[in-house]
Parts: sequence; structure tokens; C-alpha cells
Amino acid sequence: MQLSPEDRALIEAARRAQQQAYAPYSGYAVGAAVRTADGRLFTGCNIENASYGLSVCAERVALFRAVSEGARAIEAVAVVTRDGATPCGACRQVLMEFAPEPEACSVWIATPDHIVARYTLRQLLPDAFGR
Ligand SMILES: [Zn+2]
Repeated sequence: MQLSPEDRALIEAARRAQQQAYAPYSGYAVGAAVRTADGRLFTGCNIENASYGLSVCAERVALFRAVSEGARAIEAVAVVTRDGATPCGACRQVLMEFAPEPEACSVWIATPDHIVARYTLRQLLPDAFGR
């Protein structure tokens, strides 16, 4: 699998973020990282709540951190779980909002130890809701 130094750094950032997960209810730690079009990395972890529905996915935490720092375009995403899960449907749609080129936006799926898959965002959400 083709892995640039930038992609390697993205995945490593998501692995570090996974260690910050607040998941006392599910016990399922998720780390995510996004790389913006201007080359910045933002990370997120899942943050659960005693009122379960208020929990937020790692992917959206990472993306919202980027947007709140002025980013409006992402070019790659990495998601790290213990078993190589892909982003939920809600996160796919939210990521799509800020991926001007979803056919070129890599979504790396990894565990702490290895890389499971690389998709494009378009592959994960072929019929996204658009503006
Ligand atoms: Zn999600």
C-alpha cells in the first residue's frame, strides 16, 4: 500500500489521539486525524457521555477542531480503532461537507499496529447529500 510520509504522520497522529479517547461506556476507543489542504493536522478522539446520545465520534471532533481553526478543506483522514472500523454514516456526511475533492480524499483505516485499508471518501459515501 502506497504510504507517503504525510500519510504516515497522519496515521500516527490518529494512533496517538486514540489514547485520549473518553469511552467509559462502550470501552471502544477511537482516534482520528484530518489533514487540511494547507497541510495542517488536527486530531480527535471519541468523547462519550452518560446520556449516550450526546457522545461524539472522533472523526467529527478532529474535523470540527480543524474548521474552528479556519480550515475549510480536508485532503485526508485517518481513523484508528482496535479492529479497523470505518467511519459511521453521520461522520461520512460531515466529512464530505469539507472535502472539495472526495474522489481524492484518502480515508486511512488502521489499528494501533497495522494499516487495514485505504478508501476514498467518495467510495465510503457515493451518494452524499450536497449543497
Ligand atoms: Zn461517526
